[in-house]
Amino acid sequence: MDVQANLKNILKDIPPHVRLVAVSKTKPVEMIQAAYEAGQRDFGENKAQDMAAKFPQLPQDIRWHFIGHLQTNKVKYIAPFVSLIHAADSLKILKEINKQATKNDRVIDCLLEFHIAKEESKFGLSMEEAESILQSDEYQKLQNIRLCGIMGMATYTTDDEQIGQEFRHLKDIFGYLKDNYFKETSHFKEISMGMSGDYSIAIEEGATLVRVGSRIFGTRG
Ligand SMILES: *Cc1c(COP(=O)(O)O)cnc(C)c1O
Repeated sequence: MDVQANLKNILKDIPPHVRLVAVSKTKPVEMIQAAYEAGQRDFGENKAQDMAAKFPQLPQDIRWHFIGHLQTNKVKYIAPFVSLIHAADSLKILKEINKQATKNDRVIDCLLEFHIAKEESKFGLSMEEAESILQSDEYQKLQNIRLCGIMGMATYTTDDEQIGQEFRHLKDIFGYLKDNYFKETSHFKEISMGMSGDYSIAIEEGATLVRVGSRIFGTRG
């Protein structure tokens, strides 16, 4: 796997307003280091303990993105250093992130995950659920988290038209939330969508963050 060549190839497709998160889950620190040496600074992991184990072994200016489903009892492992949590999908997890952020005397940036795929999934909010969180007194009291945008995953399919529709739906959700809840909030600007198979479609449809793993680091075992 020539990580540096793969990275260069992908970066050719990515315009300057879109940030590439290199998804290094299950991959060794040596591969992350190689990507770092090619200039990559944003890395994504989906297991809290794995991310916490890699963090001290690698350069301190890496921005660590937590991209998977986060359980409340795991937030403490990543709260001291995580840069962005992509998949917050309940008031309960936001409250725990806020609590751990407070303990670490920092503010943690988060995205709300929305369910946009046709596939059944336990994860991701509906608009109704998201609005009930945003309107709650409990959410409004949280001083140590900052919502910076939204995230979603398209259906795993070869139907590009369907993928495009799902990403457009996510963009519309973003627009609605921006207008109704975050109009004056300049940091509410991120749309995290697109993976190895569909990041080009995601960029066309307005992604600001793409999460690419296997195209950079090879398939996972
Ligand atoms: C694994 C993963 C990715 C990257 O997947 P690839 O297909 O390897 O690019 C992106 N987002 C999430 C949430 C993931 O879990």
